[in-house]
Amino acid sequence: MNEVDHLLEHRFETLSLEEKLEVKRLGPHHPRDIGISQTAGKNIRAFNVEWFAKKKWLTASIQKKALFCFPCLLFGGSGGEVTWSRTGYKDLKHLSERITKHESSNSHLDNAMKLGIFGRVNVAVQIDSAYRRGINEHNRQVEENRYVLGQIITCIKLCGKCETALRGHNESADFLNPGIFRCIFETMCEGDARLQRHYDAQPVFKGTSSTTIQNKLLDCMYDVYRPTR
Ligand SMILES: [Zn+2]
Repeated sequence: MNEVDHLLEHRFETLSLEEKLEVKRLGPHHPRDIGISQTAGKNIRAFNVEWFAKKKWLTASIQKKALFCFPCLLFGGSGGEVTWSRTGYKDLKHLSERITKHESSNSHLDNAMKLGIFGRVNVAVQIDSAYRRGINEHNRQVEENRYVLGQIITCIKLCGKCETALRGHNESADFLNPGIFRCIFETMCEGDARLQRHYDAQPVFKGTSSTTIQNKLLDCMYDVYRPTR
């Protein structure tokens, strides 16, 4: 399916993605006996297939007996470059200079680049995807924090209704009377994975220090709550 004659009949842009990727994978077709020749006086100048090794983009049509440029055949040529993408090149006498001229043309460089990046992961999309993943993770974390905070407030309100102290004298993990807040919160954690995760990750409920940020937060919330009792 990478033959020039096939691709002239079935334009690259009309192929499915799978077919396009297969054409790219196969690369330029290099027929061994294409019969391209040109009379030069008494001599006959024949196309040397070694050109295929020198110029990787070069390909040839068996039916047209003409040379083509693979990237330009796939992605189209413009101006004088349609020779290499639509009609085919036959002038062997000036082949070397025409090859040099074509491969330095803007349209060829553009098409060669299109072929090179075709089928690869779009870097911009990849960056955009990573950016979106970062935002989603941030939003998930914010949502979880709000949920945990809401449950802590619920717990504080409950303590307030019972008119009992939030903290015990000693909240260390092995202390038998750690305070009503911690007891209620531990009960709330049962069957609540998000709350349990927070409980396991935060030292405030392990009674490490009353000066931790988390404990200060509890004090602030208690102060906010107290006037409404
Ligand atoms: Zn080209």
